[in-house]
Amino acid sequence: CGQCVAYCPTGALTFRNDTKELYKAMKSGKTVIGMIAPAVRSAVQEELGLEGDMVMAGRLVNFLKMIGFSKVFDVSFAADLVAYEEAHEFKERIENGYKLPQFTSCCPGWVKFVEQFYPEFIGNLSSVKSPQQALGTLVKKIYARELGLDPQDIYVVSFMPCTAKKYESERPELAGEVDLVLTTKELAQIVKASGINLKHVQPEPFDRPYGLSSQSGLSFGKTGGVLGSVIKVLEEPLNISEISTEEAEGIRTTKIKVKDGRIVTGIAVFGLGKAREVIEKIKSGKIKADIVEVMACDYGCIGGGGQPYPNNSAKRQERARILRETVGMDVLVSPVENYHMQELYKKYLIKPLSEESHKILHTSFKHRKRVNSEDIDILPLPLDEKD
Ligand code: SF4
Repeated sequence: CGQCVAYCPTGALTFRNDTKELYKAMKSGKTVIGMIAPAVRSAVQEELGLEGDMVMAGRLVNFLKMIGFSKVFDVSFAADLVAYEEAHEFKERIENGYKLPQFTSCCPGWVKFVEQFYPEFIGNLSSVKSPQQALGTLVKKIYARELGLDPQDIYVVSFMPCTAKKYESERPELAGEVDLVLTTKELAQIVKASGINLKHVQPEPFDRPYGLSSQSGLSFGKTGGVLGSVIKVLEEPLNISEISTEEAEGIRTTKIKVKDGRIVTGIAVFGLGKAREVIEKIKSGKIKADIVEVMACDYGCIGGGGQPYPNNSAKRQERARILRETVGMDVLVSPVENYHMQELYKKYLIKPLSEESHKILHTSFKHRKRVNSEDIDILPLPLDEKD
């Protein structure tokens, strides 16, 4: 919304164009590796006159290879991995009585909001990195070794629906994992500048091993996707016997009956505006939850600040439909079924929450200074951004 763009303290809606950095990297002689987020493939076609194209991810993979990328991976692979780790972290918290509710941490807008406005809840944030940062680290720390390359000679480019992701990659504790973050709009700009008509580009699969994903991983692109994936992973370890969901006033509540008959409550919150209200209610005891997912943007990443304009609710609904249909085409349902992820554990990470997995997949958070609205440059919005 217009107000959000003007006052967003989290970087989720800030405008910035970094396409020149990609052209510089292409000439640097480094091995350029790309990764594409789920929400990008459901919206980039709006800028290219290819609405409703269901194989956009494949066309983008081939296009990026044509312009010089050496490999293109799927951020949904890392989403499976993140859900797997977060689910085990949650299981550990509920079994050992550690700090609850657990807050999801894959949205940097939400993470920064907690760090700035609710530092007393920093310990509630899952320590698992976002899919973008997890995949960047895998490429630099594991894939580079497999290729026999110095990580310094690899340049990782992430295509995201999100401007906050640019700032996330620059956080000192995460710096160097992802070299460049380009939004959906910047990607469309690169396609247009290339003169290549994507409609005539044959779809190609993502590169392995980080190109395989489950329906759960892909569903990270919209609100509820992270929580749904965590629940999927926990079905067996917690012996979940019943799941019921209801939605009201910007909150989706999921009740999960687990092995000892206990009911675990998960909440998915639609947008940062609602998050403040939810967090206040958690503080006062009016809301009781064990796990809380917050995505800063309306509808989640499909409505991100880096998506094409108009970015209104009609467009977001259409993107959600495309994403749902793309998810339905995936044969793997749960992150647990992702066999390349399981191989990664066998070869390197041992098991969820191991020392090895902590080194690669986990991070830390800290209290950050509040940003006041008067310190933020107010930028003009396109006229069609009414909601
Ligand atoms: Fe970025 Fe998605 Fe969070 Fe929006 S919801 S700030 S697009 S990660």
